[in-house]
Amino acid sequence: MSASPKGNLIVISGPSGVGKSSIIDAVLDGTRSEFSVSATTREPRRGETDGVDYHFTTREDFLDAIASGRVLEWAEYGGNLYGTLRAPVEDAIRRGDSVILDIENDGAKQVRQAFPSAVLIFITPPDLDELEKRLRGRGDTADADVEKRLAVASQQIAEAPDVYNHIVENRGLDTAITQILDILSLPSAVTRRM
Ligand code: 5GP
Repeated sequence: MSASPKGNLIVISGPSGVGKSSIIDAVLDGTRSEFSVSATTREPRRGETDGVDYHFTTREDFLDAIASGRVLEWAEYGGNLYGTLRAPVEDAIRRGDSVILDIENDGAKQVRQAFPSAVLIFITPPDLDELEKRLRGRGDTADADVEKRLAVASQQIAEAPDVYNHIVENRGLDTAITQILDILSLPSAVTRRM
């Protein structure tokens, strides 16, 4: 009996404003994979839908889920808790689908520990000036928040080589997407660089 193909965990991280959502959408289109909808205790933003963008939950329920082992990885970010629910990820992998996680560095480290075959990709901007331009260009972020996000971004970028298998510089969306699709289809994509 031949083993059925198994899905994998794919982490796609990067600072706010780097173009992550467009890249993730393209990867979802180009591969047999699904997006992991995280749980969070933060308030929904305008336009966000419960169960689609996040599972919005209370701190109490979130802590309960951690205590009962239902959370695969989690982290506190900007005063809110964020985490990946274990069951949907494990179900997808069992079905042979890959799962894409959009999570920050602390979560990525936990995934790397628990799933050594996970592919961890960090998307980085060409430089911080470019990231600042993109953040301001989106027009949805207050000036003080832009400063905060840039500070967080520079910390994330500094740490990235110790956490991720692949670092992809987003100089242009098409090239970045092609690079990531290449990474995911190469057998070497599942071999961790250490
Ligand atoms: P936002 O509040 O802007 O949607 O997300 C803030 C940060 O939380 C982003 O860096 C995002 O990647 C991260 N994040 C979202 N979901 C999860 C999760 O399930 N686990 C972890 N560790 N980080 C997450």
